[in-house]
Amino acid sequence: MVEPIEYSEKVKDHFRNPRNVGVIKDADAIGQVGNPVCGDLMEIQLKVEDNIIKDIKFRTFGCASAIATSSMITEMAKGMTLKDALEITRSDVADDLGGLPRVKMHCSNLAADALHAAIKDYMEKQKSGAKKLGENEYEVAVVGSGAAGLSAATVSAYMGLKTVIFESDTWGGILNNMCSARLIENYPGLTGKISPAGLTKSFLEDAENQQVDRKKEAVISIDIEQESGLKVLTTEGGTGITYKARFVVLATGSIPVESGVVGEEKFAQDEGGVYYLSTDPSKLTDKRVLIYGKGYNAVSTAECLSGIVNNITLVTEESSFSVPEKVMDKVKGIEALKIMTSTDLLELQGAKKVEKVILQDNTEDEKLEIYVDAVVLVSELKPNIKAAEHLGVEIDESGFVKTDKHQRTNIDGVYAVGNVVSDVDLLIVAAAHGAIVGHDVYNRLKPQ
Ligand SMILES: Cc1cc2nc3c(=O)[nH]c(=O)nc-3n(C[C@H](O)[C@H](O)[C@H](O)COP(=O)(O)OP(=O)(O)OC[C@H]3O[C@@H](n4cnc5c(N)ncnc54)[C@H](O)[C@@H]3O)c2cc1C
Repeated sequence: MVEPIEYSEKVKDHFRNPRNVGVIKDADAIGQVGNPVCGDLMEIQLKVEDNIIKDIKFRTFGCASAIATSSMITEMAKGMTLKDALEITRSDVADDLGGLPRVKMHCSNLAADALHAAIKDYMEKQKSGAKKLGENEYEVAVVGSGAAGLSAATVSAYMGLKTVIFESDTWGGILNNMCSARLIENYPGLTGKISPAGLTKSFLEDAENQQVDRKKEAVISIDIEQESGLKVLTTEGGTGITYKARFVVLATGSIPVESGVVGEEKFAQDEGGVYYLSTDPSKLTDKRVLIYGKGYNAVSTAECLSGIVNNITLVTEESSFSVPEKVMDKVKGIEALKIMTSTDLLELQGAKKVEKVILQDNTEDEKLEIYVDAVVLVSELKPNIKAAEHLGVEIDESGFVKTDKHQRTNIDGVYAVGNVVSDVDLLIVAAAHGAIVGHDVYNRLKPQ
C-alpha cells in the first residue's frame, strides 16, 4: 500500500502562499539545481551587498515540498552573511518547516543546494570580476590627488583593486601647489626630511608601482547607473569618454569661501590681482603681495611665498596668529615679510587690476593705504563636492561630508576623505583616510 503523504501546516502554508517568488532583474548571482528522478527544478537568485544577502527570489518547478522548501529558505537566508547562509543545511530547512515527509526529504528538499550554488556563483564572479572590467572600468575611482586621494588610490591598488585617479590641476594637491619646496615639519616619520614636492613624487612612484591609472582630467559629474549601481564619471574636455567604477572616492579637498571684501569680485576675474590658496604661486613672482587671513594657513602661505616673492605684507584682523610659537618665530625672521595684526582689509582699489588696498588699523583706529600688485585671500575654506553634490551626499552641521568610520558616505559605494570630511587639516590625517578606504573596499569585495 502507498504511504499517504502528510504535510505539516507550515509546509502547506508555504506551498499555498510562497514567499519571494519571482526574478531579481539585476541579480548578482544565480543557483540552479534539479532532481532528474523526481523532475523538480529550482532556481535561486541573489542580490548581495557587503557580503550580505539583501534580496533573494526563487522559481521552482515541482511538488508542494519543492515549493515550500524554496520559499522557506528565502525567508531564512534574507539578511544573512554569505558565510552564515552557506551553513544552512537541508535538515535546517526541513526542521524550520516542521518536518517533511520521509519520501520528500531527498527528492524535493533541494533548496539548500540551490542557495549554495547561488552563493558559489557569486564568489566565482567576485574572483574573476577584475578581469572582466573593460578599458575604462575600475573597481575604485579616486577624484583628487592630494594626500588623501593618492593614499586611497595606492592602498586600493595594493589590495589588488583596479584603480584610477583623476586630477584637474597639480598632482599632490593644494600643498604641493602652494608650497612645493618647503620642508614639512609635522608628517610623523618624515619630519623636516621631505617637501610637498618630494612627498608627491614618492606617492606617485608608489601609485606607478601599484599600477594605478592616472588621468589628468577634471571630473565634472558623478552619476549612478540605476541597473548596475556603477558610478559613472564624466570628465571635462568633451571627448565623450566616461569612466565607470564600483566605488568612488571624493578626495577633492576644499575651495575658498569668498571673503566679501569690497572689490574682491571685480579683481578676482581675468588676473585682476585677487588670488586664493589654490593659485599657482608662480603668478606672484616679482609682485608686491598682501596676504589677508588668519591662523596656520595664512602664516604658512606667507612662509611658502617668501621663497619667490620679495615684498609680502601679512595682515590679520586678529590680535595674533594662533600657531605654535616656533612657527611664528620662524616667520617673523623672514626679511621680505611685514606683519600687521588687529587690522581689517576694507577695500581693494584699482582701475583694471588691484593697485592699492585700504586697511583699518584697529589698535590705532586709523585707515591706511598700501600699494600692492596682488592680494592673496586666505579666507575660510569649504569642502569641494561640486562633482557629487547632486547625488545627495549627506553633510554634517559644520558643512563637511558625513562619513562613518570606514569613510563611507550615505550613498552606497561613495567614500569621502581628507579635507572633504574633516577640518583636521593635516596631510597625515588625509593619508590615513585614504588607507582606510583601500582596506574597506577590499573587505567588501573579497569573497568570504
Ligand atoms: C598653505 C598651506 C600649508 C599647509 N601646510 C601643512 C603642513 O605643513 N603639514 C600638514 O600636515 N598639512 C599642511 N597643510 C594642510 C594640507 O595641505 C591638507 O591637510 C591636505 O592638502 C589635505 O589633502 P586632501 O587630499 O584632502 O586635499 P587637497 O590637497 O586639497 O587635494 C585635493 C585635490 O583634488 C583636486 N580636485 C578637486 N576637484 C577635482 C575634480 N573635480 N576633478 C579632479 N581633481 C579635482 C584638486 O585639484 C586637488 O589637487 C597646509 C595647507 C595649506 C593651505
